Amino acid sequence: MELEIKRVKTPKKLPDDSNLGFGAIFTDHMLNMDYTPASGWHNARIEPYGPIVMDPATMVLHYGQSIFEGLKAYRTSSGKIQLFRPERNMARLNRSAQLVCIPEVDETFALDALRKLVALEKDWVPRTPETSLYVRPTIVAMDPFLGVRPSHTYRFFIILSPVGAYYPEGFNPVKIWVTDKYVRAVRGGLGEAKTAANYSASLLGAEVAKKAGYTQVLWLDALEHRCIEEVGTMNIFFMIGGEIVTPALGGSILPGITRDSVITLAKHWKVPVVERVITIDEVMEAYKNGSLQEVFGSGTAAVISPVSHLACGDEVIVVGDGGIGLMAHRLYEAITDIQYGRVEDPFGWVVPIEEE
Ligand SMILES: *Cc1c(COP(=O)(O)O)cnc(C)c1O
Repeated sequence: MELEIKRVKTPKKLPDDSNLGFGAIFTDHMLNMDYTPASGWHNARIEPYGPIVMDPATMVLHYGQSIFEGLKAYRTSSGKIQLFRPERNMARLNRSAQLVCIPEVDETFALDALRKLVALEKDWVPRTPETSLYVRPTIVAMDPFLGVRPSHTYRFFIILSPVGAYYPEGFNPVKIWVTDKYVRAVRGGLGEAKTAANYSASLLGAEVAKKAGYTQVLWLDALEHRCIEEVGTMNIFFMIGGEIVTPALGGSILPGITRDSVITLAKHWKVPVVERVITIDEVMEAYKNGSLQEVFGSGTAAVISPVSHLACGDEVIVVGDGGIGLMAHRLYEAITDIQYGRVEDPFGWVVPIEEE
């Protein structure tokens, strides 16, 4: 497939690196591609960033048939731009597509188009340390039709947003609220897809947690409210008695790419790491017997998010000394060092952007 490029006439003024925030500023161009049953995915083009005009009956607006990805482009100290494991994002996009009956994209083509888009927008990749260009590939159902069935037509798009440091005041721990009332996903449902419904399902629990003074919700399994699943939009890890434990992927948990990077690094360092069922009771017990050393989340936005407090029912526990654990710190440094090209990448995770 060809990739047509239509450039903007007047580029926007580049934002100030020191005040980017997250997800509110968008670059000059976007990628668009359409799907029809007759032509498959076709008409891939990079064009000026702008609205998608939709009929009010457009299916995505009613039935939520929509999937997305999130990854980042990083600028190294020598000025080069690179992506982190982007082929994983394209593979996961297709896995999400299968789960909500969206036709799959050609991963190689989509990744190539993404690299061309980032290359075109290279000046938008910020330079201040710990900033990056967030990349959001998305697919939405486009049939103007009322009635529950998979859409026949779709739009794939990629938009780019320069984002600031996740920890502007430095690497900081968060407080987590364990909910046994609200659930995010259930096995056999959509938990392992990055699809709109999961984020709607998480809003109320997150609001309740915020009102109680907590940053994120720790989700438990939907049936018994015992097994730990994930936290907010991050995967979760516990360091207990020298071993790293993370919930196994059972269909209701999002298979995070950062999660996989954490597991790979721990194994590389010969730190014991296991994926298994872990209950909230086990974590509380480990706290009581003194073996709970660290708790941290993992995700593209924060990389590693150390957890200082866990509120579970009437109990609030302070993990370690309430600061940043050694393992969380080591993982954060190791992953960001690779992402920003400060060290050699021994895993083949980094994909350079060729500049024009
Ligand atoms: C995106 C996401 C994650 C983290 O995935 P990464 O690939 O590490 O960014 C974890 N949980 C949920 C629910 C997510 O949406």
